[in-house]
Amino acid sequence: MKKQICIIGSGTTGLHLAYALKEEFDVTVIHSSSPDEIRNGRVMSTQVHFGSTITRENRFNMPKWEDNDPIRSIHITIGDQKLFVGLLDEPALSVDQRLYFSHCMKDLESKGVSFRLLKVDKEELERVIDKFDLVIDCTGKSGPLLPFPIEEELSPFQVPQRKCIVGYFVGIKPNNPVGVSVTVLPEVGEMFEIPAITEHGPVTILFIMAIPGRDLDLFKGIKHANEFTDQIKSVTHKYFPDIHERIDKKGFALSDDQGFLQVAINPVIRKPYVTFKNKLVIGCGDSVFLNDPITGQGCNLSSYCAEQLYESLIQYKHSRWDTQLGETYWNRTKPFVKEVTEWTNAMTQALPQHVVQTLLEGAQDQTKADKVAQWFADPSRAHEAFFQKAST
Ligand SMILES: Cc1cc2nc3c(=O)[nH]c(=O)nc-3n(C[C@H](O)[C@H](O)[C@H](O)COP(=O)(O)OP(=O)(O)OC[C@H]3O[C@@H](n4cnc5c(N)ncnc54)[C@H](O)[C@@H]3O)c2cc1C
Repeated sequence: MKKQICIIGSGTTGLHLAYALKEEFDVTVIHSSSPDEIRNGRVMSTQVHFGSTITRENRFNMPKWEDNDPIRSIHITIGDQKLFVGLLDEPALSVDQRLYFSHCMKDLESKGVSFRLLKVDKEELERVIDKFDLVIDCTGKSGPLLPFPIEEELSPFQVPQRKCIVGYFVGIKPNNPVGVSVTVLPEVGEMFEIPAITEHGPVTILFIMAIPGRDLDLFKGIKHANEFTDQIKSVTHKYFPDIHERIDKKGFALSDDQGFLQVAINPVIRKPYVTFKNKLVIGCGDSVFLNDPITGQGCNLSSYCAEQLYESLIQYKHSRWDTQLGETYWNRTKPFVKEVTEWTNAMTQALPQHVVQTLLEGAQDQTKADKVAQWFADPSRAHEAFFQKAST
């Protein structure tokens, strides 16, 4: 008989795991929102999946998404100075999680994965732990369900470093070549412009990262779509003229009434396993590895850790699932979790001088510009540029 695994949560992590594990194990996913609620609900992320994540999606036969014009470049601007457009080695893609999650859930169900609609509370968690061979907590930033120990040296912040302000818009002429635009306004915040696919067609995501209390922190109390759109127009006019010039004054609007979001994340990294009632419980994704979205790594890290957990479970397929499995999984994931986290935390602070220098060199040298673009697809390179170079 196959071992029984329960995944709690049907976000990026839970879904990547379900696809990875479903052939070798008997998988049940418990989720707090139905596919239709997710489809008709609010946007949740900006979700750029870089090349290695798309490779994993293909490895685990996840649905493929058609986009004739995927993300191929990263545009970098500091202040009002456009520095360069760096080319990515492989195309990246942003598919609205409302579409991605609801589609994957239905697809998995048709392939034999069991789904239970239920918000797991403490009592239910105990029942689930008793019943299954392994429970994996994929409850995202609203989790975790158990006190996975905090890794203090990777969790330096007590409060969010940014307010995340996201709108999915139509009526903006895309930048050329198609890519993610990053504009850094030192000591104020950042703007990310991201082309994405949604159920309503292609959109441009405008994603403001405002340092709390500074000039971009202008959306407090805004709850209605029209008010949000007006404020974005005013902010782009004042702070991001390059984007404002591409806005079509008549056609500019949110893709739908639920196409905007405001959230602030306090990053926390936890050791991703505990024992509860003598049984191993594992955490994966944001529930245990929660970073600020500033580097766009959350989905990519979640997918990476889901694959590492899959490999660990295959390695221990015929053994007892105890802390040794938990430790194996943590040893596999920790080096990359550390690199992503340290780089991401550094990006929320003033850029070090040697990094500014590297960006300026990118303006003169296309090979260097392409290397910087690749930081986002391969955060180990970014970590090296921020830290190893700094120490030499
Ligand atoms: C504004 C913003 C922009 C971002 N942009 C990017 C980006 O460009 N690229 C990138 O890689 N990452 C990005 N991220 C991060 C990325 O979205 C997350 O890291 C990723 O979605 C985490 O996936 P997850 O499955 O761990 O958590 P989630 O996607 O949050 O999923 C958790 C699931 O668990 C369910 N759940 C929670 N509690 C319970 C319970 N008690 N019982 C049952 N179910 C429960 C929830 O309903 C949800 O479905 C961004 C995040 C934000 C906030």
